[in-house]
Amino acid sequence: MQSLSPSIANVSVIGAGTMGNGIAHVFAQKGFIVSLVDTQPQQLEKALRTIAQNLERQAAKGLISEEGKKATLDNITTFKEIQEGVRKADLVVEAATENTEIKLAIFKELDKHAPAGCILASNTSSISITKIAAVTRRPGSVIGLHFMNPVPVMKLIEIINGYATDPGVTRQMTELAEKLGKIPCVANDYPGFIANRILMPMINEAIYSLYENVAGVQEIDNIMKLGMAHPMGPLQLADFIGLDVCLSILRVLHDGFGNPKYAPCPLLVNMVMAGHFGIKSGEGFYHYTQGSKDLVVSKRFARS
Ligand code: NAD
Repeated sequence: MQSLSPSIANVSVIGAGTMGNGIAHVFAQKGFIVSLVDTQPQQLEKALRTIAQNLERQAAKGLISEEGKKATLDNITTFKEIQEGVRKADLVVEAATENTEIKLAIFKELDKHAPAGCILASNTSSISITKIAAVTRRPGSVIGLHFMNPVPVMKLIEIINGYATDPGVTRQMTELAEKLGKIPCVANDYPGFIANRILMPMINEAIYSLYENVAGVQEIDNIMKLGMAHPMGPLQLADFIGLDVCLSILRVLHDGFGNPKYAPCPLLVNMVMAGHFGIKSGEGFYHYTQGSKDLVVSKRFARS
């Protein structure tokens, strides 16, 4: 049994992109002291703007007070260096780019600079927690905390036990998830865990259906929305997650299981190579203009 952090007050979030800003928001709103770290200063600025806008929306709906909004923002400090940002951490939640080399390098640094007893969690969608833990000297304190997008809204946290994760750490993270107002579901560490092992083949199949001209973007999404009661169609959801993230996860599933059924659709590969990542790049299966609520199919896939 490793020595565990007795209580968690200081949380460092590594990566201030789509997920990092939401994770920082949720912890700060619950009174945790949050250090938000990103190597790209513009990502930190964008994250603070996004958090302020999302808090504004919550305040307009009467979900939080003006004081609550201010207190949340006051709880967040930004850093460019991991070394500085994790100095006092009781828990680190890594939410950097979905790339194995990047994550392994980050965890080596975290292990070096985070206090002894600090729990190191990854928000990875698919990369092995066991592999990440193995580059640290504290594999028992490494765990997956897979938040869902958008983090302030979605209730689930998928908690992933690595091969060496200490059961005490799993218990502590389960209680923490409940403190955040979320519902924890624990899974073991196999490629894609549960959420993406089931979701990504569906998204990939939707992209194959478009690639093979079985139907258009709207038809595919409407069939799944209206027929299966999904709140978003799979192509819209892929744009929302990020097509680059979807491709990385499919590659992990394909490599991890060695089964051709997970091979990413060539259309997805082309779109990512062309820099069409979905919402975050402005173009994917749909075209996104800032502030627009209408769903406009990308010209590339428009049907007359
Ligand atoms: P993103 O591309 O929006 O953001 C990644 C951020 O990490 C960027 O701001 C980048 O500058 C930063 N970064 C890269 N290397 C870094 C380093 N060495 N140190 C600090 N920051 C660094 O990605 P995202 O969609 O927020 O995904 C982040 C993680 O969350 C990934 O592991 C992804 O699989 C997972 N995830 C994503 C979703 C989703 O819907 N997008 C959902 C659940 C989990």
